[in-house]
Amino acid sequence: MQIPGHIDPVPTTRAPVLREDGRVDLVGLSKDQIKAELLNAGLDAKQSKLRAKQIWHWVYNRGVTDFVAMTDIAKAQHPWLDQHFVIGRPEVVEAQVSTDGTRKWLLRSPDAQDYEMVFIPDADRGTLCVSSQVGCTLNCRFCHTGTMRLVRNLTPGEIVGQVMLARDSLGEWPSAQDGRMLTNIVMMGMGEPLYNFDAVRDALKIVMDGDGLALSKRRITLSTSGVVPMMERAGKEIGVNLAVSLHAVTKEIRDEIVPLNRKYGIEELLQACADYPGANNARRITFEYVMLRDKNDSDEDARELVRLLRKYKLPAKVNLIPFNPWPGAPYDTSTPERVKAFSTIVFEAGISAPVRTPRGRDIDAACGQLKTSSERKSRAELDRLAEEKQAALG
Ligand code: SAH
Ligand code: SF4
Repeated sequence: MQIPGHIDPVPTTRAPVLREDGRVDLVGLSKDQIKAELLNAGLDAKQSKLRAKQIWHWVYNRGVTDFVAMTDIAKAQHPWLDQHFVIGRPEVVEAQVSTDGTRKWLLRSPDAQDYEMVFIPDADRGTLCVSSQVGCTLNCRFCHTGTMRLVRNLTPGEIVGQVMLARDSLGEWPSAQDGRMLTNIVMMGMGEPLYNFDAVRDALKIVMDGDGLALSKRRITLSTSGVVPMMERAGKEIGVNLAVSLHAVTKEIRDEIVPLNRKYGIEELLQACADYPGANNARRITFEYVMLRDKNDSDEDARELVRLLRKYKLPAKVNLIPFNPWPGAPYDTSTPERVKAFSTIVFEAGISAPVRTPRGRDIDAACGQLKTSSERKSRAELDRLAEEKQAALG
């Protein structure tokens, strides 16, 4: 059977896109890459090494966007730096705040691709939900992002740029500051992070670097729909917490709602979780489970979930996500009673199974609702054009 969507990785714009003015954007570059750019622009090796270290600190730890602020770099060199480089931020097309305090930003890349990020404040933490791709190739049937036509991988600069923009807007530079609102990051925005592995790894390395954004790997979670062959590398090369979008416990249902399951099945996926480097009882794997009415929410499903988690001896917690509907979605949300009953079965088996409250619903910022409004507009525009065409023919 034809698998919906293309389930192989999409091409990436990997190299930093050269700006129209010919300057290089330093955001997203590693220290070595900054050094190479400085050499390339004409500094000698010794200067390049020193300046790269200083610039790295100013860019990623202090959040400055202007070379003039780099007080340990000779004033005379500021105009030269400015001539060759910029310290960019994603362009903000729209910023919205929900009645519950959740914030959503619609961002645009220089090649006019739109993507979103969401900030969710809680009493004891603040979580930034970061996108890894524009759209997603995987077409999970309950996910709005999966219905987008356009897909491109985000660059490391576009990924780390989201976190830097959030810090700007919350006023949370420098990195060492205590009492920050932004305390956690989840790679749960638009896209499948393990289909953009290199860029996600490079961006998170900058986020985790003590002299960079300095956020501990224990406060970062990467969510995957189950790209089995990349999971071991994710553990070894990134080492953040793992979340797995399981959503179903039988082949039949998971094949339907997460089409990637036809390539990497449930047992294979759970084995990869059992092998995930760094998973233990102190650092459990989160299994996300979207609750779809009469689809995956029976008592039997809950018991099978427990059986599977036990079979693979997984240090697990289960996140139950009531399905967030979107226009035209082919599913309904499970009833609250069903969610409760499901949660109780898992919980009584000794596995924590909290029900996630949807956040930012009024601004379409809740889980799985991310789909850029410009895409919606172009869809609406297409519909209008189709109607006009119909009218002309009629
Ligand atoms: N592609 C990755 C990360 C982004 S999706 C993944 O699938 O894991 C983040 C989470 O939101 C996933 O668990 C996803 O299944 C869930 N999700 C998607 N659409 C949803 C919806 N309409 N309602 C509730 N959760 C949804
Ligand atoms: Fe892609 Fe995740 Fe949405 Fe599936 S749930 S379509 S993998 S973003």
